[in-house]
Amino acid sequence: MVEPKVILADPIGFCFGVERAVNLLEEALKVHGKVYCIGSPIHNPQETARLENKGLVVVDSGEEIPNGSAVFVRAHGLPEGDRRELLNRGHSLIDGTCPFVFKAQKKASFLISQGYRVLILGDKDHPEVKAITQHLGERSSVVLPGEPLPEEVSGGKVGIISQTTQRLEDLANLVQLVVPKASELRVYNTICGATEARQKAVAELAGITDGVVVIGGKNSANTRKLFEIALERNNQAIWIEEASELDWRWLEGKSIIGVAAGASTPDWLIDDFLKLLGKAKGVVKEDGR
Ligand code: SF4
Repeated sequence: MVEPKVILADPIGFCFGVERAVNLLEEALKVHGKVYCIGSPIHNPQETARLENKGLVVVDSGEEIPNGSAVFVRAHGLPEGDRRELLNRGHSLIDGTCPFVFKAQKKASFLISQGYRVLILGDKDHPEVKAITQHLGERSSVVLPGEPLPEEVSGGKVGIISQTTQRLEDLANLVQLVVPKASELRVYNTICGATEARQKAVAELAGITDGVVVIGGKNSANTRKLFEIALERNNQAIWIEEASELDWRWLEGKSIIGVAAGASTPDWLIDDFLKLLGKAKGVVKEDGR
């Protein structure tokens, strides 16, 4: 078997916000030894396990954290009330909120202060959106692309923001729908672009390779999306969390393969896979395939 040529997606792996958050968490672990996080700090089981080995403790709720602990805030951010609650219990917060998420929160608060009802393009169950809506309460609504508009946007002052990972064309469509209904409309584009860039890259790869390997956590929504996009364009797309999951038979007959990874996939998992791939020729021969 001829060793396949490998093309990496560009960009690949950690986005700016996740990289920043993980660096902050690692620094905090060096200082405090033990750091708590409500929910997984990153949607990648292998990276979370690596951080747990260094002293990270993942809990389901703030009530499980002993008073006066070091607590890490994920890149998705925290609702204002939860943040206050943690501070009231004497915790020191290590704030990994991505600056792009923070910007969306600020814009939403500003719109409310100016008398606008805030319409958020996004998923109401996503932690990033929850952090905004729990703060704004009744004065906000959330809508996914293609969903009907809420009644409340008719006739009043409406401000639109977006979950950072939505698509620009969906934001533009929403604006078009609201224009005829609102008496006044103000729009802030709070999309960060990291997700869209990775989606574009994997789509291109799928079109020019014999198969695409997407590396990332099975609990990562952005990795799932990359895999779906790859599979739509190339039926030889596979999704693995780590190198050891590769079935060598998949490489047979492929002279060029693409490698992509989600925004929550660390470099070391990508490197592990590439190292293993470097051995592909020998291993395949050993197995007699
Ligand atoms: S996807 Fe964008 S908003 Fe979310 S953490 Fe990454 S850089 Fe920040």
